[in-house]
Amino acid sequence: MISVTEAIETLLAGSRRLVEAENAELMTATGRTVAGDLVSPVYVPPADNSAMDGYALRFADWPGAEAELSLSQRITAGSVPSELETGTAARIFTGAAVPPGADTVVMQENCEESETGVRILKMPAQGANIRPRGQDVEKGQTVLRKGQRLRPQEIGLAASLGFAQVSVYRRLKVAVLSTGDELVDPGTEAGPGQIYNSNRFTMNAQLAAWGFEVVDMGVARDEFDMVKDMMLEAAERADVIVTSGGVSVGEEDHVKAVVAELGDLGLWRIAVKPGKPFAFGHVRGTPFLGLPGNPVSVFVTLLIIARSYLFACQGTEDRGLHAVPQKALFSKKSSWREDYIRVRSGSEGVELYPNQSSGALFSTSWADGLVRQATGSEIREGELVDYLPFAIFS
Ligand code: AMP
Ligand code: MG
Repeated sequence: MISVTEAIETLLAGSRRLVEAENAELMTATGRTVAGDLVSPVYVPPADNSAMDGYALRFADWPGAEAELSLSQRITAGSVPSELETGTAARIFTGAAVPPGADTVVMQENCEESETGVRILKMPAQGANIRPRGQDVEKGQTVLRKGQRLRPQEIGLAASLGFAQVSVYRRLKVAVLSTGDELVDPGTEAGPGQIYNSNRFTMNAQLAAWGFEVVDMGVARDEFDMVKDMMLEAAERADVIVTSGGVSVGEEDHVKAVVAELGDLGLWRIAVKPGKPFAFGHVRGTPFLGLPGNPVSVFVTLLIIARSYLFACQGTEDRGLHAVPQKALFSKKSSWREDYIRVRSGSEGVELYPNQSSGALFSTSWADGLVRQATGSEIREGELVDYLPFAIFS
């Protein structure tokens, strides 16, 4: 029996990036991993510009609230100003470049314009209402780091620097294979003894949400030869193979035997609940993760164990899963395994879903996160627990 931490460390120790860099259109690069540091070739904003609709002037030229300054130019956003004549003001609009010579912008609410000029009733501090060149990003500043995953924020940021494309790693190809004679696909009639194949859909959906290219292999029956043929095909077509089921100790569990024959197999009993049987190995050199069969175990081991390994294969920096302390609204006895409990958070704390069975997939939908209960520790109502909102696994 090994701990979750040991399992992850062992997996990561044997991992490396399996994908090479390519250029992607920025518009469709959300979720992709940056393949090299991105340095800004420009200043953002490119020039000092006005933060207000108002009037630009030299601070020293203000004649007081009673006297008028003549208006020497009108500067709209996108136009190029000329040097400000001494003793005058310029009408200016938000985002427009501040004319050379001006050092202060006064908001129009504090000014009174007439036919002949403008009176500045209230003068702000020198430098007010000017957004200086490079205030957001300096030329030469590193804005994206290799290994960073592109969120909408980074997409917008790269666009603000003028990039239409970005260098990212090719999407990791992950083959998904479910095993089990009892499985039928949704959309067909489930006969006696049959159940719908949910793991195939959970795995496809989660892997796609992480930005991987899913190679959907469908189902292998519980027959050695069929599992073997499909594993060989998966190894050909993908960078990593993920399977569900067939890694337990029953004689119908053929995945282990197939992997042992085609490569190397580490069969682990991880002290985790749900998700105890977990296999790792290689099929003809292609890394393989064998998730358990139970639907909740599949979901939890994907998040807790497979995720960090797959991110490493994709070249994505994993910033770690940082738990948020939350008050438990329930009590729970200690367990000899690390327990990942489906909970829902509210203003009072986190609430337990009553059915924590590894087959109760509804618990994962009801929940908005997991509470990690360390091995041997008890949870007492009212105490703080480690809450892992699902959002941190994205
Ligand atoms: P196994 O590890 O193959 O013995 O499967 C453990 C449990 O998970 C059994 O109750 C299976 O019926 C169930 N199971 C296995 N694969 C799937 C699947 N793809 N979708 C839904 N349930 C599954
Ligand atoms: Mg099975």
